[in-house]
Amino acid sequence: MDFDLARLNEDHEALIQFLYLAPVGLVQASLDGAISMINPVAAQLLMPLSHDSCLDNLFAALERVAPDLRHLCADFAAPQGVVCDGVHLHLDRDASKRVPARVLSLSVVKLGEARLMAVLGDVTEQVRRERELRRTDAWLNAILSSISDYALVRLDAQGRIESWNESIGRVTGYNAAQTVGQSYALFYPAGATTPEHLADRLSEAERDGWSLDDGLRRRADGSTFRVSAMISPLRDVVDGDTSAYSLVMRRLADAENGDQQAPVERQRNAALRDYLTGLGNRRAFFEAAELELERRRRLPRPIAMIMIDADHFKRINDDHGHAGGDAVLRHLAAAMNLTFREIDVVARVGGEEFAVLLPSTDLAGAAAVAERLRLLVAQASVMVDAAAVDYTISAGVAAMDERITDLEMLMKRADQALFEAKRRGRNRVGCWNEDAAHIDQNESTRERI
Ligand code: GH3
Ligand code: MG
Ligand code: MG
Repeated sequence: MDFDLARLNEDHEALIQFLYLAPVGLVQASLDGAISMINPVAAQLLMPLSHDSCLDNLFAALERVAPDLRHLCADFAAPQGVVCDGVHLHLDRDASKRVPARVLSLSVVKLGEARLMAVLGDVTEQVRRERELRRTDAWLNAILSSISDYALVRLDAQGRIESWNESIGRVTGYNAAQTVGQSYALFYPAGATTPEHLADRLSEAERDGWSLDDGLRRRADGSTFRVSAMISPLRDVVDGDTSAYSLVMRRLADAENGDQQAPVERQRNAALRDYLTGLGNRRAFFEAAELELERRRRLPRPIAMIMIDADHFKRINDDHGHAGGDAVLRHLAAAMNLTFREIDVVARVGGEEFAVLLPSTDLAGAAAVAERLRLLVAQASVMVDAAAVDYTISAGVAAMDERITDLEMLMKRADQALFEAKRRGRNRVGCWNEDAAHIDQNESTRERI
């Protein structure tokens, strides 16, 4: 019995200690407000409010900021329960505007017929932050509803669209129900992206602070438009982890839609485009391919290259004139556009030579695509001055491996494989292997280096 009493005393002592040290203000009072116990935090919070600096009554201390509290407690009929919960009390309301008002939060619990417990906290900073957030929100909403060529999208950590706003609707034509919760792959035309490509953009943004992904996007009605897209991480304010991403898609002016392109954009496009076929030119290929290889260096994965060369093209020129040859080159470019994905880098790198870099594709995958293109071309005819012109292509395929150090080396292997395909009779796809490396390299790389 004696032992139990000692234990009880000990518990009581611990409780008093806790109340004393608790980081919130705690006040115990009788139903008429007479304070029987108050901890230091509560005293600190209430002292500036009290007229006479004498903290003996809770209601008197809060008279100026919560005049109704006395009645609220008196009218609370139940034997116990929550009288008020987290009510905000605004202090220094009349003070000079330059000094921000302090805000206290007050909860009062009726513990029994004769006892009240008040919990007080200083929530000034929290209220200020909430107000700031609301202001930022209103500001962002104003921006979002006034811009017309940008879609601003918030993505979650997995790249799913988290919220919908008017700018998304205006640029893409999608509504909230169609977008929220979907992967941002939704904005790409069919076959224009892979899950790996999407995940890459996110990890690149995570690592570098941003990731650019320009190209074609799809509207809700299926039509496409060209964008410059930037993904940036939105870091969690508490632990600095990336909790979400922002995706900003800027609709680029599209000459086909009769839009006026900005002069700088037009100039850059002209410098990178092949005038005859509309594909990227040699410079565009090297720029884009270097960028792709740089990405691969940081995130290793398969990457393949195809070199394509029209067979007996001199003969086509001889038989059908230079214009006939040009028509064939345009036909081949169109067939390539049909065959390759949006993420592939496709370019005309020489007279009747084309190069394609295929990210996230291995040797067998690239060979299969090259074979599809070869068949498509072999089975089609190009009309030149009412005459049907048949033509074929040869292709060489190589894939990146640990011995390849740069783009030139990968291109050289694809070239060697192409030469081998020509040697074996043309109208075929060759894959690079060790044997192909030993053929006459001077001949295989003529015109190219
Ligand atoms: P192969 O099967 O070995 O590739 O034979 P080929 O006749 O295609 O060989 P080659 O590469 O030597 O010939 C390419 C020809 O392409 C030579 C050139 O006159 C022609 N050519 C290069 N650029 C153009 C162009 O822009 N338009 C047209 N019509 N012809 C071009
Ligand atoms: Mg040729
Ligand atoms: Mg050639």
